[in-house]
Amino acid sequence: MASPHVVIFPFMSKGHTIPVLHLARLLLHRGAAVTLFTTPANRPFISTALFDTTVSIIDLPFPQNIDGIPPGVESTDKLPDMSQWSRLAIAAKLMKPYFEKALNSLPRISFMITDGFLGWTLESAQKFGIPRFVYYGMSNFSMALSFAVAQSRQLFIDMGSDNKKLFTIPSVPRIKFSRNDFDAVFVDPEYQNTEHSEYVSEQIQATGKSYGIIVNSFYELESVYADYWNREIGPKAWCVGPLCLSAPPPQNKAENGLTRSWIQWLDGKQEEGKPVLYVAFGSQADISREQIKQIKIGLEKSGVNFLWVVRNKQAEDDDGFQHRVRDRGLLVKEWVDQREILEHSSVQGFLSHCGWNSVMESICAHVPILAWPMMADQPLNAKMVVEEIEIGLRLETFDGSGNGFVSWEHLEKMVKELMEGEMGKKVRKKVKEIGGAAAKAVAEGGSSWKALNELINELHAETVK
Ligand code: UDP
Repeated sequence: MASPHVVIFPFMSKGHTIPVLHLARLLLHRGAAVTLFTTPANRPFISTALFDTTVSIIDLPFPQNIDGIPPGVESTDKLPDMSQWSRLAIAAKLMKPYFEKALNSLPRISFMITDGFLGWTLESAQKFGIPRFVYYGMSNFSMALSFAVAQSRQLFIDMGSDNKKLFTIPSVPRIKFSRNDFDAVFVDPEYQNTEHSEYVSEQIQATGKSYGIIVNSFYELESVYADYWNREIGPKAWCVGPLCLSAPPPQNKAENGLTRSWIQWLDGKQEEGKPVLYVAFGSQADISREQIKQIKIGLEKSGVNFLWVVRNKQAEDDDGFQHRVRDRGLLVKEWVDQREILEHSSVQGFLSHCGWNSVMESICAHVPILAWPMMADQPLNAKMVVEEIEIGLRLETFDGSGNGFVSWEHLEKMVKELMEGEMGKKVRKKVKEIGGAAAKAVAEGGSSWKALNELINELHAETVK
């Protein structure tokens, strides 16, 4: 039988791209050929990450002259602010003719995996008779609950403006939610009939008509929600993660052959016997100048050792912070290999925005989380981390909202609790157990390992019929 051929098209953001690059490796290991679609400006990141593989990369011209998107910007992390992300996502649809032209020229395709934000690829898939899998990069928990509330719009309209009012979703009675736990597009009546909400509902509809969903999670972690999804919503979710566990071992050397400076710094902390808090908020979070100030004060007062990956220019304010914390704090402004940092034995806690990849990577590295969600599915991820699987503690915002302000006093207290307190000990123990289960899921015979084999067999048998 010929090898399966899989087309992958990630969305233009790092958080959506990185895990599917790991997935591409898994498919290659199982004998598949993989063709990956991207755009010219995103190509270098992808080709560097997959330099040692046989993946074919095709870049499609990204639409130009789009209102709100500066020339040359083709990924969400380069947007001047994240409020423009749906513009970028909507513009991507203009790549459809190029995508279809390329599909037409490729050898027979067994199935395609395209991002949930590229719902228009479903029409192309149907045109060519190719089964489409959707990849959202969300947990089963967040997907199931977001879709469940999207179906209960009236509930939110009736609720008026109280974002903190608690409610339960009939199918998930044991957890209380507030509107703050959800992306506004699902629960805020003001979002109804906007360009953004129309876009989201198009993606949801395309998902519903697709063959299946690939989930970067493992069944044992959230079986209740995976079952709920498969029973009540669909299409079938295939849990094949954590995908980060199939990444090649971190290259802890820079191009010049020397160990990266932050790894050397972590090595030093290990020799001193000092645990380190890793602070990072993903690839694209917008954080206000005032909030950055509070983070600095909180970290300084907490007295903990920390490594902070700063993606925000405002952290460059010359306020003497770096000098004052020089013995125990390191600010890194470059792109880092986050897994390598999390896996360093001196790293004992992660102050995270709870992007789903960060949560998965933290679990796999057995590092407990101090959860500070900021947007999108992050509040739901934080809820899962703290209330469902109990591998982290939660930072509270002033107004309880998903993207509200956190005071330095609260940050200081919770950082100490995570790194030195009894609650911190409890979640550290739990994350080790869950990290062990994650490793089992992807090992030969594990649930994720089996799910990916079943998926390939099912789809490949279809194509060769
Ligand atoms: N990441 C990284 N180095 C950086 C910043 C981010 O490797 O300097 C990776 C991180 O390990 C994760 C991804 O980028 O795999 C970010 O995804 P996540 O879902 O955590 O957050 P997002 O960026 O989507 O908000």
